Amino acid sequence: MTKGGEILVKGVGEQTLQRLNKLGIYTAIDLLEHYPREYEDRRIITSIDNINIDEKNNIIAVVTSIPYMSKTDKYIKVTFEASDNTGKINITFFGQSYLKNTFKVGESYNFYGKVEKIYKKLYMTSPDYKKVIPGNFEGQIIGIYPSTAKLTQAIIRKFIKIALNENLQSIKDILPQNLIKKHQLYSKQDAILNIHFPMNNEDFFKARNRLVFEELFMLQLTLNMAKENFNHKNEGFSKQIPNNLNEFMDCLPFSLTNAQNRVVNEILEDMQSENAGNRLVQGDVGSGKTVVAGIALFVAVQNGFQGALMAPTEVLATQHYKFFTELFKNFNINVAILTGSTTKKYKNIIMQELLNGDIDVIIGTHALIEEYVEIPQLGLVITDEQHRFGVRQRLTLTQKGTLPDVIVMTATPIPRTLALILYGDMDISIIDELPQGRLAIKTNFVNSGYYERIYAFIKKHIAEGRQCYIICPMVEESEKQSELKNVIEYSRELQSEHFKTERVAYLHGKMRPAEKNDIMSKFSAGEIDILVSTTVVEVGVNVPNATIMLIENAERFGLAQLHQLRGRVGRGNHQSFCILLSDTKSKDTQKRLKIMEQTTDGFVIADTDLQLRGGGDFFGTVQHGLPQMKIANLYTDTSLLKQIQQEVKSIIKDDPNFEKEEYSKVYKQVRQNVLDKNYYNAL
Ligand code: ADP
Ligand code: MG
Repeated sequence: MTKGGEILVKGVGEQTLQRLNKLGIYTAIDLLEHYPREYEDRRIITSIDNINIDEKNNIIAVVTSIPYMSKTDKYIKVTFEASDNTGKINITFFGQSYLKNTFKVGESYNFYGKVEKIYKKLYMTSPDYKKVIPGNFEGQIIGIYPSTAKLTQAIIRKFIKIALNENLQSIKDILPQNLIKKHQLYSKQDAILNIHFPMNNEDFFKARNRLVFEELFMLQLTLNMAKENFNHKNEGFSKQIPNNLNEFMDCLPFSLTNAQNRVVNEILEDMQSENAGNRLVQGDVGSGKTVVAGIALFVAVQNGFQGALMAPTEVLATQHYKFFTELFKNFNINVAILTGSTTKKYKNIIMQELLNGDIDVIIGTHALIEEYVEIPQLGLVITDEQHRFGVRQRLTLTQKGTLPDVIVMTATPIPRTLALILYGDMDISIIDELPQGRLAIKTNFVNSGYYERIYAFIKKHIAEGRQCYIICPMVEESEKQSELKNVIEYSRELQSEHFKTERVAYLHGKMRPAEKNDIMSKFSAGEIDILVSTTVVEVGVNVPNATIMLIENAERFGLAQLHQLRGRVGRGNHQSFCILLSDTKSKDTQKRLKIMEQTTDGFVIADTDLQLRGGGDFFGTVQHGLPQMKIANLYTDTSLLKQIQQEVKSIIKDDPNFEKEEYSKVYKQVRQNVLDKNYYNAL
């Protein structure tokens, strides 16, 4: 179906249409905005003696044998030989018998396709081909589009060409002309034309720059307008340093690191100010963010306010609840917990006690932002593992308060420019130091040949009193993913075959919250030796006595996830170990796992991720609750991002009520974004 029944473009059949729909393409404009994900430069020709085996190559060769047809079990096959003056290659096509008559001896062709070497002979199978007149070759830069198995590149390219011919004219610029002039941007039409079929690198860069500019500009403006809707002003209440703060600090189970002290001071300054504090606390896994939050909560409560802390999982919320209950026990501070599994009866009691001020500190999950939750004296809002929440969720909790101070905590190393976009005018504190006595986690990447040794290693450490996590990607047998380990079956196997005397338990996301919490409490109390788990332990979980983390099928996890998982060990004074188990043959994956061996520094890992996959993993926009970008890369397009931020700032200053005619088209689009559920709910 096309949306509203209009024709997509001429000649698209029903089947192709359905396949395009799957890619979210319904209109000709959608098609024009379906940008290539990468490009192949087919202007450069490789000579046959220089060919790269098992990769795609671009050659020009003369047909030197008459094509002959043969049959395999399944296909009709057409094969012929072609050569340039450096060597020979066999060209093969399947299932296209008519090609037998297409290629004539003596004609020159440009072939582009994957080359294999079998018994010293070169084969190129089902290449793209184009007839060329020798000496007159003009190669192209070819866009490779996001697609599905059934929709070939050639088909997408064909219909994009048609759409360019027929529909390009209907595309209008919505960016104000003064911006286009000032930044010397292509018109939108030129940009679209050149993003699909760039003649050279310069055209491509200009086209991309124009489209990225618009995308980021709209994002920035939308974020600003969204915040405007939330009436997010900077007013707040000044709090005082309580007299018993030192007494409280003396009761902490350890002395703070310098970095923690510095960040605590920065937060205390925010709290004393007349303006509402608005601070991002960034600290690598294990750097000790929780206690910093505890001190801030203490100060808020001593000033007669309530404090709220929101965590992304029940397991984590429960852990925090226990930690804070213990931390505040001598100071007459009432802590409560509210999650999705809190019973209705108990929920009602909590509502009541929040209203009448009996509860000082409320810990919870997303349940805290439900509409019916009222926290009348809320003076401090903390979000833990902020990257798991969207901008909107954060703001919603803030809104419940009496102009509260806001702290968000994250282990994700966010580049400053992006932090500025996401957190607006937030101040940033960094805990760049681990508590004393921590030994660097030793990480090893091994294959399944090592199982015996690994099990013996785990046994030895359990005998010494330590505990172990084993992470598997799957939950149940029903999710038959061939050789992937699954939690339940694997934990049975471990218990019955390898760890008969150790206490083995399992944990996964589909268990009831009460069960999960029960297992976590037992593990935390040292009543379980080996916890076989899915990634539910990924964020925040803190059991310092656990010193071994074995990650099965490590190839299945991205760098960010591996880093977070590994962060569950190395939290105490014992030497900790992380074993990455994988039989992967992929060079890229091996590279990724080796990086984990080399460093435990989140910033370095994030940086490498950025180089390896454009930050796709560490910085996936999904993680930050941002709408999916069509073309911009929030991490690499930072210099443009800065310029755009300036522009948006000055537009808002110049036109605070969003009413000037010259920006009317942008505003209209932004208002649509704000209303658009897909776009806005991602915020
Ligand atoms: P994260 O920053 O990953 O949230 P946590 O706040 O969970 O880290 O702290 C990790 C572990 O380090 C906890 O066991 C915590 O009690 C401990 N810890 C925090 N600060 C210190 C410190 N200054 N000295 C010693 N241990 C600390
Ligand atoms: Mg934490």
